[in-house]
Amino acid sequence: MKREPESRFVKVRCNKCKNEQIIFGKASTVVKCLVCGKILAEPTGGKTRFKARILEVLE
Ligand SMILES: [Zn+2]
Repeated sequence: MKREPESRFVKVRCNKCKNEQIIFGKASTVVKCLVCGKILAEPTGGKTRFKARILEVLE
């Protein structure tokens, strides 16, 4: 089994305000930090580009 973050929930930390947030790994829309509004992840042609540090991929 590959550990693809796309199909799982991932815990990320905002690069700007250090807020930790759990987001779905397969983003269909831009995901923003709930605290400061910085973009955490964005969809790019079927893949998700993470703009925040991935702390953990949740099973
Ligand atoms: Zn933030």
